[in-house]
Amino acid sequence: MTTVNPETKTQVGLKKELQGEARESVVVTCAFCHGQGRDPFGIMSPLSTCQVCGGTGRRTLPQPTDRCAFCRGTGVHPGARMTCTTCGGVGAVTAPPDAVRCPCCGGTGWARDWPDYIWPDSLFSCPCCGGKGVVAAKLANG
Ligand SMILES: [Zn+2]
Ligand SMILES: [Zn+2]
Ligand SMILES: [Zn+2]
Repeated sequence: MTTVNPETKTQVGLKKELQGEARESVVVTCAFCHGQGRDPFGIMSPLSTCQVCGGTGRRTLPQPTDRCAFCRGTGVHPGARMTCTTCGGVGAVTAPPDAVRCPCCGGTGWARDWPDYIWPDSLFSCPCCGGKGVVAAKLANG
């Protein structure tokens, strides 16, 4: 006879694993500088350190991550030589665990893609999803 209940032991182990996964972070290559650690536009100087990653070429994001919809993962604001307002230049964003396509912009992350938006040249990101192109399922449903 053993005093350890193997079933209980397994469940505790599994629970720990799931909690750990929810907090897990992922290292992504800085999209703004393509992992080079240098300011791609050399606005201050050609050797300027990338403001997004601080020169490391990498950033850590909490899981789960998704490609930034607004800049299409480039990290560059589509309308200017500056960092994307949605992802901060990383090119990836942390998505809600139950992410669904944003019902406002259809997943593009652009305000101008709203069906009744009147400024086709607008460079604003979608206020519903903040430019991510995805929202938590509970938000999409009302
Ligand atoms: Zn960088
Ligand atoms: Zn972005
Ligand atoms: Zn949206």
